Amino acid sequence: MDLHLSEDVATPEERAAVDDLLGPPDTGWEGGERRSELEGHYARGGEDARERRHLLLPALHAVQGRIGWISPGALNYVCQRLTVPPAEAYGVASFYAMFSTEPRPALVVHVCDDIACKTAGADELCADLEASVGAPGSAAAGGTATWMRSPCLGLCEKAPAVLVQEAGEETNDRSVAPATADGVKALLAGSSPDGARSVTGSTPQQGSKGLRLLRRIGEIDAESLDDYRAVGGYSALRRAIDLGPAGVLREVTDSKLMGRGGAAFPTGVKWKAVAEQTVQPHYIICNADESEPGTFKDRVIMEEDPFAVIEAMTIGAYATASEQGYIYIRGEYPEAQRRLQNAIDQARGRGFLGDDVMGEGFRFDIEIRRGAGAYICGEETALMESIEGKRGEPRNKPPFPVHVGLFNKPTAMNNVETLINVLDIVSEGGPAVAAIGTEGSTGPKLFCLSGCVEKPGLYEVSFGATLRELLEMAGGVRGGRDLQAVLLGGAAGVFVRPDELDMPLTFEGAREAGATLGSGVVMVFDDTVDLKDILVRIAAFFRDESCGQCVPCRVGTVRQEEALHRILNGSTNGSVGDELNLLSEIELVMKDASICGLGQTAAGAIQSAVHRLGLFDGRENG
Ligand code: SF4
Repeated sequence: MDLHLSEDVATPEERAAVDDLLGPPDTGWEGGERRSELEGHYARGGEDARERRHLLLPALHAVQGRIGWISPGALNYVCQRLTVPPAEAYGVASFYAMFSTEPRPALVVHVCDDIACKTAGADELCADLEASVGAPGSAAAGGTATWMRSPCLGLCEKAPAVLVQEAGEETNDRSVAPATADGVKALLAGSSPDGARSVTGSTPQQGSKGLRLLRRIGEIDAESLDDYRAVGGYSALRRAIDLGPAGVLREVTDSKLMGRGGAAFPTGVKWKAVAEQTVQPHYIICNADESEPGTFKDRVIMEEDPFAVIEAMTIGAYATASEQGYIYIRGEYPEAQRRLQNAIDQARGRGFLGDDVMGEGFRFDIEIRRGAGAYICGEETALMESIEGKRGEPRNKPPFPVHVGLFNKPTAMNNVETLINVLDIVSEGGPAVAAIGTEGSTGPKLFCLSGCVEKPGLYEVSFGATLRELLEMAGGVRGGRDLQAVLLGGAAGVFVRPDELDMPLTFEGAREAGATLGSGVVMVFDDTVDLKDILVRIAAFFRDESCGQCVPCRVGTVRQEEALHRILNGSTNGSVGDELNLLSEIELVMKDASICGLGQTAAGAIQSAVHRLGLFDGRENG
């Protein structure tokens, strides 16, 4: 394959970053020493080249993590090593927000200015930084550091939050929350007075009786396999092996487990469809690319109960006859990634992963793939594209991933919360778990409480609890203020009014009320919050995160944001009512004609604020 490499040359450090990941190059084809006897043998093209393409994202991470940006020379070297045309590699490198193809300081502090952090003072924090350090992207500490605004970092219960990306030989990315302006300035100056963020304290129910999904959190050392086993860890896998794959599929189907990532697809149906495919190999993927603003449940589970994720995936692999699994984790979760990697290493070392899992003759292993800052990669087909080393652009469906998934093979993909439900289902039997909750929504459910509540955090209830009950568990509205609205389901969800708090939190209850549970976001806004400002932030989020592949979403999200700005700054084309009508038409087009869920839901929250909350009532509305 003629790669059309440019003349740019990688520095020794850039080459070392790539070689540490891929090993030294064998031949001149890969940028190593030319050895005539090997050149023909190792010339890569066609199938050979495709086999290495999936290493593109890890290789770009290696350079970004070591140097702080991806230079043309480094990109050239990556292309040479992986036999990827530079134009394609550049398309990938420039797609992801955590990669920079322009020179950037080694230390970057990403300051979340998304909706939950706004309710905790992120705007004031950013204003302070703009005044004292300079606009986002300004050089700080003699050019060795800078700061940037960021979409939701998934730390909403500890808002306001920042992510520190620090290049160097050892990966030192970390998050700090809650953050202060002085703390960020100290980080930029090279010190970290706040230290690393504590990974504890996100589950206010800790120690309560009756918890299922959260029962181990805070009770055991999350880095110890022995601790996990001491409280029953890996007994579910043992039971699964006793049941056999068909038995596991039966229990999961009987439990009526629905996906917890937002789509609410029956897990038993998905797993059975993969298990039945005669095409080999099969894959199982844990979708840990939790990026919906307001969502942090999967992060807490991965940080505080990582072995549960690994065990549940292994059960899923056993049931679907998958020998290889991937955990695709969002790049903004370095602590969770470290904990999961530790859990995988320990599980592998003790025979819970590998060629002969638990001595039972089945093979399964897991690899972590780190995302790089793209909300759209939470969409299942975009995620698979990303693992394959491409831009995270959703595929048209059908074919569905259970038939044609990762590397075009049958693939089961499940969210973190969905997976850990499987442990009790296998241990206690599907019907026992189906008896929890309601007829249409079974089992326990996690909700992420954030915004203006007294005790933000991750809460577990049985399906059927009401929004009011959940708010009471979280101590009610912060400072006893009046409730203005609740955003249910995240930026892709809907706003609900204070008089709708008796809505049961079930799939069917939310549907009946014209709402959605989405990924379990319950974001609370008191009467001091400027909801119009929140709407503008939501519109900006979708405009920024649209992958741009299809016109309705690419253009619609821009037009939506523009119309909102015009309404708010009083420069409407016609009346406010005309602009609101335009917003409704944009919603219709995006909903009907977008390829994926991002475009289909990008106007949902804004439309609910207009029609459900009547946010613009009282103004001139034509
Ligand atoms: Fe991309 Fe938006 Fe189209 Fe989805 S709807 S494929 S995010 S442009």
